[in-house]
Amino acid sequence: ARRAAASAPLTPGALADDTPVPLLANLGKAEGADEAVALGAEGVGLFRTEFLFLSAAAAPTIAEQRVAYARLLGSFRGKKVVVRVLDAGADKPLAFLNDAHEENPALGLRGLRALRASEDILREQLTALAEADAEVRASGEGADLWVMAPMVSTVEETAYFTAIARDYGIRTAGVMVEVPSSALLADRILTRADFASIGTNDLTQYTMAADRLLGSVASFQDAWHPAVLRLVREVGAAGRALGKPVGICGEAAADPLLAVVLVGLGATSLSMAPTALADVRASLLAHTLDDARRLADAALAADDAASARAAARAASPTKK
Ligand code: PEP
Ligand code: MG
Repeated sequence: ARRAAASAPLTPGALADDTPVPLLANLGKAEGADEAVALGAEGVGLFRTEFLFLSAAAAPTIAEQRVAYARLLGSFRGKKVVVRVLDAGADKPLAFLNDAHEENPALGLRGLRALRASEDILREQLTALAEADAEVRASGEGADLWVMAPMVSTVEETAYFTAIARDYGIRTAGVMVEVPSSALLADRILTRADFASIGTNDLTQYTMAADRLLGSVASFQDAWHPAVLRLVREVGAAGRALGKPVGICGEAAADPLLAVVLVGLGATSLSMAPTALADVRASLLAHTLDDARRLADAALAADDAASARAAARAASPTKK
């Protein structure tokens, strides 16, 4: 019986009242796909493409990228796969892309800004993604490929990215919400983008003005902070109003209680390291959508991260 239980397919992520909340995996390499599926991932919510670029002295070729993307998409036939175009920046400098001499690289030419300044790299990446998608579809059911841009801070950047992605035949193009400006403008941004995915790691860094790589300010890097949650609420409300999906792909989605709060704020899917899926799945199943909204309201009304967590816990039927 134990074996059967271990190999039975996991039910899709859902709340106690059957509201679906797809549970997706954050992956950095196509090789992690089988393990993610075994751990219950219903698809990929964030595929970080940096690994292809980081160790390279020159950008990888279209052919090299195509092989990696086809392997990924081929592992998720019939499932959603959200690929993020290259996110080079402060924490991941590239010899052929970034200006290493910025005084304040977190606020510099990073994410989509850097790709725009080296547009050939973006165009090659979109070409490789479209070719990989076609290649996988030629041999059976394809994956549902979504492509998103990192570090988008304006409506104009959103319009730029979705237009260029569609030029390459990408059907579903969206943006990451990692900067307060794009959270505050979510209702405008989501008129241009097909979806938003909130990167809570960077959103927390930029909201709290605390470098996520700096140990001395690590206590500020807490997505439970009501300032961060209020921005998530903006995005969730815009998504609901416009009927557009709002995913979460930062570390916050891996915290079982915070995951419930994020759903209460309007997140429609959660993506995390595959090892976190089981605990988040169990926590969702212990809360209804009404519970999730109640927990969210309790957290939003708190003064700081610790009291937001305590308030959500007190409002939860599980008290965990
Ligand atoms: C984030 O910022 O939350 C995110 C998912 O992107 P990364 O951690 O790769 O910056
Ligand atoms: Mg980020």
